[in-house]
Amino acid sequence: MNHQNGRHYLPNTLIEIVNPCRPCARLRHVLFDFDGTVSLIREGWQQMMIELMLEFLLVTPKAEDEATLRRRMTDLVVHSTGRPTIDQMTYLANEIVRRGGSAQDAQAYKALFLGRLLARVNQRLAGLRSGRLEPAELTVPGVIEFLAALQVQGITCYLASGTEREAVVNEIAALGLAHCFEDRIYGPQESAPAFSKKAVIGQILCDYSLRGCELVSIGDGKVEMEYTAEAGGIGVGVASNEVERQGINELKREQLIQAGANIIVPDFREGEALLSYLTEEETGRR
Ligand SMILES: [Mg+2]
Repeated sequence: MNHQNGRHYLPNTLIEIVNPCRPCARLRHVLFDFDGTVSLIREGWQQMMIELMLEFLLVTPKAEDEATLRRRMTDLVVHSTGRPTIDQMTYLANEIVRRGGSAQDAQAYKALFLGRLLARVNQRLAGLRSGRLEPAELTVPGVIEFLAALQVQGITCYLASGTEREAVVNEIAALGLAHCFEDRIYGPQESAPAFSKKAVIGQILCDYSLRGCELVSIGDGKVEMEYTAEAGGIGVGVASNEVERQGINELKREQLIQAGANIIVPDFREGEALLSYLTEEETGRR
């Protein structure tokens, strides 16, 4: 292990070992988050949501100044990343009322937000379908190769997202990665809006009679890391810098560690070393 500024890394890598904990049996199941972990198609959604919240909150009678509001909403969005959009929009409606404004139904804010986001997403999807954009340009670096390596080892991959399932299915197909997940894609659906990643983790553990420590969960959101830690799983936090597509996003890193991530990676450029670490046999293993 290499040590730098009090951080511990796997030798010659940027893979940070926060809490040296490995799967307690041969690795066979890996759960992925979608946005910011696999896909960058929705990159920028957080900024877009913050702007939408500000638009409505700034005109309420008891609004704080713009800088304060911006800081608060940024915090809220960062902390709730991974939760269904409707939860965030319910929060927005409550905050409008709290400041003396009259709020619309949370569904209306959700529709507005998704409409704006969809315009950007559709542009990117069209680019992928026409070949103007390569999947590598709209995915977290190295994830395509990493998924391929997991497949070679016979490891089953799952995808759970706070984004509507139907959209995730379309986007994963446009990225040419549908074969990695097949029908193992989970997200909120019209027919089952009460979706949670916690339930997905519980279902995978139950379906395969796994102990929590046999499941590796990879994500860039605090929510999935918390649920993974609660279930006793191994959390790999992706502190991806979605804009520059390299290096660590320090804010994400901090939040992921607080939420219980065992390992932090900037992306999957060193996926091979990560996979070796996760699958390595050790003496004295649980
Ligand atoms: Mg994410």
